[in-house]
Amino acid sequence: MKIAIDGPAGCGKSTIARMIADNLGYLYINSGNLYRAVAYLAIRETTPWQSAPRMVDLMKRHHFDYHPDGSVVVDGVSLLKELRSSEVDAIVSQVSAIPEIRHEVNKIIRQIAVSKNVVSEGRDITTVVFPDAELKIYLDASTQVRATRRFQEKLNEQTDSSKEGARVSPPSMEEIRNNIEMRDKLDKEKATGALKIAQDAEYLDTSDLTIAQVYEKVYKILMARNAHGRK
Ligand code: C5P
Repeated sequence: MKIAIDGPAGCGKSTIARMIADNLGYLYINSGNLYRAVAYLAIRETTPWQSAPRMVDLMKRHHFDYHPDGSVVVDGVSLLKELRSSEVDAIVSQVSAIPEIRHEVNKIIRQIAVSKNVVSEGRDITTVVFPDAELKIYLDASTQVRATRRFQEKLNEQTDSSKEGARVSPPSMEEIRNNIEMRDKLDKEKATGALKIAQDAEYLDTSDLTIAQVYEKVYKILMARNAHGRK
């Protein structure tokens, strides 16, 4: 079975997708992390990310897989923290807007998912990557709520890193909100793989819901589908 979840940055889709995958024993595929891994490799190998042929070549020289926690395994090495660096953040949206790179990423995800039960999330999973997914969910939330959630995450990350002795100042609420607005615009205006609500997706506004409430709603939809024999 394929469960596909799309939504804008900060809508909670990674958390929900991972909870479903953990509870059902499905593979969790975070497609954003694969775009991040490609951007990370371009930086590490000083490949000009603007060159589609060089980037496709770069992707073909490496082997990609997913670890159950959502990290991307490149040539056997698990990457997670590296994918969240400010260097990766700065270019990943532009990298993911290149159609040839999207094509390769989609191929890799489909290959990894062959004959497996998966929960995959991103921006075009319900529309392009798995248009035949048995369950499609579009998670949404207001810009203010998404910015507040991201701000809280960054504060938590900061508390963790200061426990480890590192000193980092978190971005301000305004910076986070601006970044979310910029990414929303890029995501919706992409020539291929733009973020949109699939006609057959269940739409859930999570602005006033806790994670547990969102999970409960998604789980109920899933159970109702299964009860109707759509396995
Ligand atoms: O989900 P996350 O924010 O980590 O994704 C990183 C980048 O990859 C985002 O800028 C987003 O636009 C892009 N992306 C995409 N298509 C997907 C998933 C992510 O273009 N299916």
